[in-house]
Amino acid sequence: MASPGSEHPPVSDDATSFNARRESMIAQQISARGVRDPLVLAAMRRVPREAFLPERTRDLAYDDSPLPIGCGQTISQPYIVAAMVEALQLKGGEHVLEIGAGSGYAAAVLAAIAGDVVTVERIGALADKAAAALASLGLRNVQVHQGDGSRGWPEGAPYEAIVVAAGGPQVPESLKAQLAIGGRLVMPVGSDQQAQRLVRLTRTGDRDFRFEHLSDVRFVPLIGDEGWTASDLDQDVPAGTEST
Ligand code: SAM
Repeated sequence: MASPGSEHPPVSDDATSFNARRESMIAQQISARGVRDPLVLAAMRRVPREAFLPERTRDLAYDDSPLPIGCGQTISQPYIVAAMVEALQLKGGEHVLEIGAGSGYAAAVLAAIAGDVVTVERIGALADKAAAALASLGLRNVQVHQGDGSRGWPEGAPYEAIVVAAGGPQVPESLKAQLAIGGRLVMPVGSDQQAQRLVRLTRTGDRDFRFEHLSDVRFVPLIGDEGWTASDLDQDVPAGTEST
């Protein structure tokens, strides 16, 4: 991946300032909260979050929070991206599925570790912007698709890791079926749209899954055939909220 400024030396003041803020984000928001996997820390160091934000919020790129990206959706908080990627226990080179591409930022972090990433986004305008941001960084190992990711992306299955960046009432059966044996799936799950549990499923056999509760989180809803339907949605869930 080209780093900001690497093709246009000398490095601009803006790039220097973003690089410095990225370093302090890793120290204060990521490492300090217990993310230790060197592959994850290196990936977070490599991906410029500012490249996935609209111009008007670019200066907030290293704030410790999710940020609006349009269409009522958010780019995830850096810490939650790092924690979810660490929970996937990647070693490098895996075939990974992400549901909820949003801005494309988490897909870029995954792509810095995995062999290749398939990411699915329900909203076409966001899928297009995510694909453009990923292409602008020269990332060739990410495929962005528009569609209902609650049904996964069967054409690419099986996946060694699956991560869902939106909260659903349960883990979709389609996603379980598309997970390779030995693979890990990380997703926010809960019958309450205001709060979910971040869970990890490890496929231990054809029909066997080990279940772990990792933390309590709050994500935007997974909307689709195996998620929430539009009529299920609470009217008072503020768009774009997400936190641990
Ligand atoms: N990973 C993203 C990033 O790094 O910017 C953040 C994802 S945002 C918290 C959740 C995304 O899930 C939203 O963009 C939303 O449109 C998407 N989403 C919700 N339901 C979906 C579905 N059934 N299939 C695919 N994407 C979905």
